[in-house]
Amino acid sequence: MKREYPPVWLGAALLALAILWRMLGAPVSGAEWADVKTPLWQARVLLPSRVGRVLTLWLPGQTDQGTDSLLEGEDPDGRQLVRQSMEDQPRVRVFLDAVVEMPLESYVCGVVAAEMPASYHEEALRAQAVAARTRALWQMENGGCKSHPEADICGDSGCCQGYASMTECREKWGDETELYRQRILNAAASTMDEHLTYEGQIITVMYHAMSGGKTEDVQAVFSEALPYLVSVESGGEESARGFYTDSFFAFEDMADRLNRQIPGLNTTAEEMRRGFSVAGYTDSGRVADVQVGERVISASRLRQALNLRSTWFSISSDGEGITFHQRGYGHGVGMSQVGANSMAAKGADYRDILQHYYPGTEVAGRE
Ligand SMILES: [Zn+2]
Repeated sequence: MKREYPPVWLGAALLALAILWRMLGAPVSGAEWADVKTPLWQARVLLPSRVGRVLTLWLPGQTDQGTDSLLEGEDPDGRQLVRQSMEDQPRVRVFLDAVVEMPLESYVCGVVAAEMPASYHEEALRAQAVAARTRALWQMENGGCKSHPEADICGDSGCCQGYASMTECREKWGDETELYRQRILNAAASTMDEHLTYEGQIITVMYHAMSGGKTEDVQAVFSEALPYLVSVESGGEESARGFYTDSFFAFEDMADRLNRQIPGLNTTAEEMRRGFSVAGYTDSGRVADVQVGERVISASRLRQALNLRSTWFSISSDGEGITFHQRGYGHGVGMSQVGANSMAAKGADYRDILQHYYPGTEVAGRE
């Protein structure tokens, strides 16, 4: 019996598709798939620029997108936005390696670039820009950075907010630098001067990477209650990379780390084996405290000492050590960036997002 072979054109078409796939920089090997930083649903952000590049290769001169001259100016990072409005921009003293003074909007761009993946939805980037600007304005009014009194704010995300210079951005963005830079500039420019207020006062802004499904009340983490930093639902995060993470610590190693980070604790591997347990939960379901023998330490302190991703965890123990099964990433207070991105993907704009995560606040312009 004669075997039917697929037609030649089908083979050619498949080959062409494979070449196109490769040229667009799409993953092929298992390692490349595992390395994909952008979820597939966000590929629409990258695809146009990659298609553009492939077309440029084939049709030189046909798809020159051109760059606008939005960005000239005095800012060392070339992030100046609209030139005429820079004149009366508030200026922020930012501690990086030394104190650098820059226009507020340039600073906002650097924070958004450092604190949120630039491939996120543009409405999420806008929400992040407003949050970053609010934090800067709050600090300028409230005595500046605690660790660097000569500055309004510093570039340490553990203290104030992260800040990425253009050099750092080029390193992390590589070929996509121009595309990502435009997205960040647009996020800052389209929300220029906007910040969050509650009853007319600039608010204390907090945000984090991923809540795990519900944000945390600020009082549970930082002991001061604020009406707009309360626990809210944060749906649509489950599909994000790192939603669940397990971290394992051998008893000995865990005791060492805790003793090093928490002076006076003096615990032992044996105590980790027999005397370590959850002592209580917060209203949002996160761990509030843990029991170490007779002592109780806060879960935030434990998270810091062990570098856990979040305090929303359960523990299990085998003969060797303890595993923390964690949800989400960060302290959980205020806006969840993954949650913001998910809301944006479902059609929310940045005002909806801010309103959701900072209930009762308003987006205000410049007085
Ligand atoms: Zn600081």
